[in-house]
Amino acid sequence: MSKQKFIEIKGARVHNLKNIDVKIPHGKMTVITGLSGSGKSSLAFDTLYAEGQRRYIESLSSYARQFLGKLNKPETDYIKGISPAIAIEQKVISSNPRSTVGTSTEIYDYLKLLFSRAGRTYSPITGEEVINHTTTDVVNFLSTLQEGERFYVLCPIAGLEEIGVERKLNLLLQQGFQRIMVENEILNIQEVLDSKVNIKKADLVIDRNVIEHSEESRMRYSDSVSLAFTEGKGECIIVLATNLERHPFSNRFELDGMEFTEPSPVFFAFNNPFGACKKCEGYGSVIGIAPQLVIPDRSLSVFDDAIVAWKGEVMGEYKKQLVMAARKFDFPIHRAINELTDAEERLLWEGNQHFMGLNEFFKFLESQTYKIQYRVMLSRYRGKTECPDCKGTRLRKDANYVKINHKSITDIVLMPLEEAYAFLSTLDLNDYEKTIAKRVLPEITNRLQFLMDVGLGYLTLNRPSNTLSGGESQRINLATSLGSSLVGSMYILDEPSIGLHPRDTQRLIKVLHELRDLGNTVIVVEHEEEMMNAADEILDIGPLAGIFGGEVVFQGNAKELPKAKNSLTADYLTGKRMIPIPTKRRKSNNKIIVNGARQHNLKNVNVEIPLQSLVCVTGVSGSGKSTLIREIVYPMVRNFLGEAGLEAGNSAKMSGDLKLIKAVEFVDQNPIGKSSRSNPITYVKAFDDIRELFARQQIAKIRGYKAGFFSYNVEGGRCEMCDGEGEITVGMQFMADVHLPCETCQGKRFKSETLEVEYREKNIADILEMDIQSALDFFKAGKDLLDKKIVEKIQPLVDVGLGYLKVGQSSSTLSGGEAQRIKLASFLAKGQKAEKTLFIFDEPTTGLHFYDIEKLIIAFNSLIDAGHSIIVIEHNMEVIKCADWIVDIGPEAGLKGGEIVFTGTPEELVKCQSSYTGKYLRL
Ligand code: ADP
Ligand code: ADP
Ligand code: ZN
Ligand code: ZN
Repeated sequence: MSKQKFIEIKGARVHNLKNIDVKIPHGKMTVITGLSGSGKSSLAFDTLYAEGQRRYIESLSSYARQFLGKLNKPETDYIKGISPAIAIEQKVISSNPRSTVGTSTEIYDYLKLLFSRAGRTYSPITGEEVINHTTTDVVNFLSTLQEGERFYVLCPIAGLEEIGVERKLNLLLQQGFQRIMVENEILNIQEVLDSKVNIKKADLVIDRNVIEHSEESRMRYSDSVSLAFTEGKGECIIVLATNLERHPFSNRFELDGMEFTEPSPVFFAFNNPFGACKKCEGYGSVIGIAPQLVIPDRSLSVFDDAIVAWKGEVMGEYKKQLVMAARKFDFPIHRAINELTDAEERLLWEGNQHFMGLNEFFKFLESQTYKIQYRVMLSRYRGKTECPDCKGTRLRKDANYVKINHKSITDIVLMPLEEAYAFLSTLDLNDYEKTIAKRVLPEITNRLQFLMDVGLGYLTLNRPSNTLSGGESQRINLATSLGSSLVGSMYILDEPSIGLHPRDTQRLIKVLHELRDLGNTVIVVEHEEEMMNAADEILDIGPLAGIFGGEVVFQGNAKELPKAKNSLTADYLTGKRMIPIPTKRRKSNNKIIVNGARQHNLKNVNVEIPLQSLVCVTGVSGSGKSTLIREIVYPMVRNFLGEAGLEAGNSAKMSGDLKLIKAVEFVDQNPIGKSSRSNPITYVKAFDDIRELFARQQIAKIRGYKAGFFSYNVEGGRCEMCDGEGEITVGMQFMADVHLPCETCQGKRFKSETLEVEYREKNIADILEMDIQSALDFFKAGKDLLDKKIVEKIQPLVDVGLGYLKVGQSSSTLSGGEAQRIKLASFLAKGQKAEKTLFIFDEPTTGLHFYDIEKLIIAFNSLIDAGHSIIVIEHNMEVIKCADWIVDIGPEAGLKGGEIVFTGTPEELVKCQSSYTGKYLRL
């Protein structure tokens, strides 16, 4: 670790940073804040982290470096006192579809070890433990007998019938054995052979002996027993001479006529062919009869044909059978499937003596597939369903015969983490198991504890990593880092509070403080007030964004912040500026209604969502917000509009004023494009008009340049030396790639003849170099009809606060917040003309400062005023307080959530005692 007290950055000039000097204290928690686009990431990730990485790679051998190398030195005068850097970003951890919360946190690896060493195997038939004996077990048994007791060591003789008695006995004689035991009598083999008596069954006598408690005799017993196991193909019998009591032992892993596999870590590895489920080959799902296709509308009763497979004249017979008999076992045929108990619903599938259940019904159809109409019918109900053998855990079935305290590894990975923690930290183990668990178990429980500390107790270990939200996966990474307890490192986090309800922010802060107290330097890019209060140091970058930002406007602790001048952060925190609370809430009579939502943790809920309003869906993380909106409302609306998108598995029903919705848009935080060839102007489609404008100019017409000539993405007018990139990338062995401005076009991306075409004294490259605000002013002054069109398209970019971006700035360099606002702007651009759209936003405040949020809300309102509808999933109280209607889901996460806790206005929510959101909302 560096002896310096500070990380010292001199002259940082990355992106928009204005040659700034910054000192960040070691061993402290520093929050970097500021508007979106002010330069926070440029400082934290592109300067500090990049330099940490670069130094790390430089420290490797030159051999290793040629595979890794290629990192640019961030543009600074110097950086001193930097520690090894660990960046924890919001990226979803892994694209490997088989990665789960358990594998990515290594918890599953330790569970495999624990189960292979301390697990006990039970027969699924009798539930008895399957035990196999070792030679030591038998010797230990002998040592419990009385000194002087006489006994025999035997083993069964195999192959008497197959080989023939005479041949077999002769073979044994040749091996040097002399006696066998037949019906409790010891006989001499030679005598048996001579007497020619026929025997069916016999045991071979390996040894006759007298109990003596000494080390030498133990050795001798041990030799005989292991010989018995070998000769007896895994079986050995001890017989006491006095009463002929038989004590059988087996070193085979068998019981109830089944052979079992001895546990080993790979036995529990679902990513390995050996451990993978045999039925679904490790996919977790199989093609089978899909319940959601058999009963698509769960608001219907059996009587009203909820079971579509039993509709119609022929198949209706099966329904009739049930309806007629229902009284005998009290089955409510008039009750909606939704409202049946689990047992009643199971009965529909399993049937009883009075009627044929669905399982048997489909089995029957399957046996009839030689008839085409049955084949067609079956195919209608087939879909992807959870694998019945492994319940989606992808693990071979027999791995679950192994249990610890009555739970299998599958039981554990399907529990919410908090439950798994409670179970594993109170295991009842014997002394032997305790010694085994001593090293493994803390590795598991500590990691679980960290995951709970960062508010993820509602997840399961089986949850696929690629279904996690960015915030969840960042917090898992954080917990994993804590588990490995590195010290003296620099941790850089990007808005770890994303996706976290304010209720859980304090726990996250505690975790960050722990990380710091272990001796690490913690740097967090954040906008949350609570985070700032918890920081040792706040670094406010600003004053505004882009070219108007890039300076340090304040550095100090939360107490000193109010004194800062020229800091928007300070203005909002002190209340000098405020996001205004709307004076009136919209009251819309139009709404959509969802009935019977029961995906994941949702408890069969019904909910109404007003249209032409700002609706906020709130609740603690894991309560079910995304499930309701992403997996039910969005796909169902798409389905209604005739677009694909409805996954099988959705059994909810939607009604209400759906016909008022003409389009639906899901606006998430994904970047708008990784290509260096798109930019804000192409995204709002203004570039087409700009090119057209150039094609209309006199010289262009004379030379025959069409609009496409002014594109840098296609051959024609662009510089062919750099393919319109404006720069040439030179790969250097052992060194970072070098980006050089293209000499032919001087970085202007076009041929010189293209640039000869000017519109009001600007050529196409000049336009791309302008910032968006200036471009707007330029086109506003124009008189062409196209100017007006362009202005209409660019204006929204300025409205959402992106006026500082360069017209030609490549999309791949935009921050998440910028990308989301460009999407928003592209919808605003359609304005009044657009079809009435339902917009769904998933945490649109990600990366946004108070000041940005204020603009965002104005943009939302203008969309609604144009007749559109908005649903936002949010934790941010500034947005929630501006909503017309709130749907609060909870009360807790996971199984303890999934209910609608509250619906109504913010004023009503504040009074709702049972809602956590209500407790944190201030009006
Ligand atoms: P913040 O993290 O505060 O939201 P950033 O550091 O991401 O802001 O961005 C600061 C400014 O630098 C913005 O104007 C952004 O568009 C610009 N910028 C970011 N990355 C690049 C890049 N790779 N090339 C050019 N400009 C960039
Ligand atoms: P929120 O959006 O409120 O944070 P979610 O809707 O993501 O909550 O999660 C609600 C519950 O459903 C949680 O217990 C979560 O673990 C579970 N869940 C969400 N998505 C999936 C999925 N793809 N597979 C399994 N369980 C899921
Ligand atoms: Zn399976
Ligand atoms: Zn060029």
